[in-house]
Amino acid sequence: MLIVMRHGATADEVQKVISVIEEMGYQATPMPGAQRTAVGLVGNDGRVDASRLEGLPGVQEVMTVGGTEVVAIAGPCSVETERQVLESARVVKEAGAVILRGGAWKPRSSPYSFQGLGRPGLKLLAKAREETGLLICTEAMDPDGVGWVSEMADIVQIGARNMQNFSLLKIAGRCGKPVLLKRGISATIVELLLSAEYLLAEGNHDVILCERGVRSFDTMTRNLFDLTAIPVVHKLSHLPIIAAPSHGTGLRDKVIPMARAAVAAGADGIMVEVHPNPEDALSDGAQTLYPDQFAQLMREVRIIAEAIGRRVAEPAAVSA
Ligand code: PEP
Ligand code: MN
Repeated sequence: MLIVMRHGATADEVQKVISVIEEMGYQATPMPGAQRTAVGLVGNDGRVDASRLEGLPGVQEVMTVGGTEVVAIAGPCSVETERQVLESARVVKEAGAVILRGGAWKPRSSPYSFQGLGRPGLKLLAKAREETGLLICTEAMDPDGVGWVSEMADIVQIGARNMQNFSLLKIAGRCGKPVLLKRGISATIVELLLSAEYLLAEGNHDVILCERGVRSFDTMTRNLFDLTAIPVVHKLSHLPIIAAPSHGTGLRDKVIPMARAAVAAGADGIMVEVHPNPEDALSDGAQTLYPDQFAQLMREVRIIAEAIGRRVAEPAAVSA
């Protein structure tokens, strides 16, 4: 569980949150960021009364990935321009996402494809957070990247290609921010869980797993989106698992049905690529939703979540 403090929250307000967490019998891990602080609550056994924390002065939002809430992470594949990021942030928030995604560094198969804006891209994400209050999830590809991303972002993404980059996992395990760990392109579920252990072993207990499809012999879709991984992981691990149907299918018209299916299968969240103009996207345009498609998906996902006793997490009001 993550308690996100408001921009400008005082040290006393942060300390109060820590004390209440400890009084409740859990461990508190403060995570100071460049813009604002978050406090991690470690050891959530599902009995934490979030309302005790929500009402404290200086608290903007209490986020639980893996509780009864289903979290939507959405945004473009890559951070491209200020306008594109801000517009993406506005539309995904409007539709009900609570976390903005977008890569400042992109792991591309070809070195001649767009590689991402790098650090200036992080600044654009920070601006989008300031404007919308959305949390930020973005990928770190190497040790320096983990440092820069963890300083700015709320969640550090480790991509599929780095799932078994064990030295990077150890560094990410010490970065002090929650980590979203994507399943490797040909990784088994057990290998995904063992990679998560690298993060946990370094003391980082805020780990979110992500099913994003695996390689298969079938060429009809980009990957084979393994929905089974969701109940299998829930059986084997206490860690939350979200689903990324954009990468899982690679095809825009398959993203919506598979996102719906993932929520029905018990996913703790969905990560969906959304762009104001997918046809102009510098990466993954073919699997990227138009804003109105994402809004429709969110309406459907709310109904599906409710049918299985869950609810979709709603975006916080902008703090600034
Ligand atoms: C992404 O999230 O855009 C990405 C590159 O994902 P993956 O590592 O799953 O390919
Ligand atoms: Mn992508």
